[in-house]
Amino acid sequence: MLSVETVTKWMELFGEQLTENKTYLSELDTAIGDGDHGNNLARGAAALKEKLGANEYEALTDLLKDVGMVFVSKIGGASGPLYGSAFISMAKASKDNDSLELADLLAAGLDGIQKRGKAEAGEKTMVDEWVPVVEAVKNNSLTTETIEEAVEKTKDMKATKGRASYLGDRSIGHLDPGAMSSSLLFKTMLEAGVY
Ligand code: ADP
Ligand code: MG
Ligand code: MG
Repeated sequence: MLSVETVTKWMELFGEQLTENKTYLSELDTAIGDGDHGNNLARGAAALKEKLGANEYEALTDLLKDVGMVFVSKIGGASGPLYGSAFISMAKASKDNDSLELADLLAAGLDGIQKRGKAEAGEKTMVDEWVPVVEAVKNNSLTTETIEEAVEKTKDMKATKGRASYLGDRSIGHLDPGAMSSSLLFKTMLEAGVY
């Protein structure tokens, strides 16, 4: 269910997972990027924890907007503006809309990512995690397997966007770090009972 309470819980769990997986996410990024993805996100998670602890939210839109602002300003790299755009776009979608469905919220997030990063499905980015998840939420069929399979599929893809694209064919055979961090976002979404 979409509520300030469940989404707050979701963001807390996501932040914890980012912190726990900091080394792993940076290792994935060492293989096909510059090795900072986990560190970038852990910095965002620390700032998010502080922000959530200092505020009481009444409206979902305000909560999502703050998450977006923290991510844009603290994560940095390519992923900061992308995650930031996702949450700011979700904040806009939830403004003055009490009957918003999760599928529409996530579709707005994906739209924010794609407006900023211009990646389509199949380019070995976080978009490859978001697209199947948004689709499954629409069809009411999202499972942990959907989330995990989407990350696995990035392994065989050749990166054509972001830093990993500099490697060309050598990017094949590695999981995409951003798809992995987005899988944590969606697993914690299930855990928090938002879905
Ligand atoms: P940087 O590459 O600047 O060091 P990060 O390491 O934090 O930034 O993030 C890398 C991740 O960002 C990639 O694994 C990929 O999932 C995602 N990414 C990069 N460029 C794009 C893009 N144009 N669209 C969507 N996601 C992207
Ligand atoms: Mg990086
Ligand atoms: Mg970097």
